Amino acid sequence: MQKTILHMDLDTFFVSVERRLDSRLNHKPILVGGLTDRGVVAACSYETRGYGIHSGMPMKMARELCPEAVVIKGNAGTYSKHSDEVTEIIKEQVPLFEKSSIDEFYADLSGMDRFFGCYKYAMELRQRIIRETGLPISFGMSVNKVVSKVATNEAKPNNQLKVDFGYEKAFLAPLSIKKIPMVGDKTYQTLRNLGLRKIKTIQEMPIDLMQRVLGKNGIVIWKRSNGVDNTPVIPFCDRKSISNERTFERDTIDVVKLKGILIAMTENLAFQLRRGQKLTACVTVKIRYSDFNTYSKQMRIPYTSADHILIPKVLDLFRLLYNKRLLVRLIGVRFSHLVSGNYQINLFEDTEEALNLYMAMDRIRERFGDKSVIRASSMGAKTIGRMHNPFNGQPPIVLAHRKQ
Ligand SMILES: [Mg+2]
Repeated sequence: MQKTILHMDLDTFFVSVERRLDSRLNHKPILVGGLTDRGVVAACSYETRGYGIHSGMPMKMARELCPEAVVIKGNAGTYSKHSDEVTEIIKEQVPLFEKSSIDEFYADLSGMDRFFGCYKYAMELRQRIIRETGLPISFGMSVNKVVSKVATNEAKPNNQLKVDFGYEKAFLAPLSIKKIPMVGDKTYQTLRNLGLRKIKTIQEMPIDLMQRVLGKNGIVIWKRSNGVDNTPVIPFCDRKSISNERTFERDTIDVVKLKGILIAMTENLAFQLRRGQKLTACVTVKIRYSDFNTYSKQMRIPYTSADHILIPKVLDLFRLLYNKRLLVRLIGVRFSHLVSGNYQINLFEDTEEALNLYMAMDRIRERFGDKSVIRASSMGAKTIGRMHNPFNGQPPIVLAHRKQ
């Protein structure tokens, strides 16, 4: 059966939320991000694009390029709330959808054609989102995710585009190779150095040649260029969570040790999030006491993957949950409501230095293993737990195997 895949993307999402909260910002150049000299641009309005501004650029440089821009320190909590509002509308209207990032959705409308025209249905959904949330959103529709995503980007801002079945290659042909999802700056340069500019040229190349130059990625890029993509829409509710838990050899009431282990687990899970380019919006802490009664408590939070935000939440939950008189048999941490995304959402609080610090720590972990860099406060967990203590005669504590 031929599929109908819808891709929806909120336009300059952070900027649009700020404008919804203060209409005086309409039509003005807006920069959202860290306000200090070391801050980074997390989002910018279309009005700033002509000045050569793009997200990820140092805020200081952006302000120099466009001194008249209104600079706003973003708020992850506000954006998460508005993202949830849009998600609720889509959830009501579409049985199978994927939330692929804080401001992006895929929906599989296959089979709905008999009852409704899919395009008409998507148009009405888009209008409803705009009407009820006040946020501009664009969509692309085609037979698969890749072509629909490209179509959305071509439709923007605040518009829609349908690529009819059979016209995928023709639609992609005149576009720049930069428009293919997954072609980043580095791949783009490699392809440019080969003299490639338009997707059409890749379409006409033999697939083996692409493979020789770019390996496995070359095959994927070639297929995408030809409008071929079979990746399914992953239902939102099936989004996996990541968790870590540990059963003690001997039940314990040592709170310092428990906290140290929770911090170590959180650091490790946060690293897993960042490595998988994911953000979490829900934290759960679980405690099982020696009588096998198990309790857990969870908290919704703004989307994040940053240790310094997640650790205090985990410790708060532990404080609320923990009954001091009882021996603990097991503790665990879980992050759920995962969406794809990167550091961008945390840029408002953080300086470029903090960001670089995370990246540097993660690079060390990639090279030397998960536990090669840890926070001083979780060192306790390391000395009491993961490192063998020659004086107490107990076996070393090993962190539970990570479940994916
Ligand atoms: Mg967007």
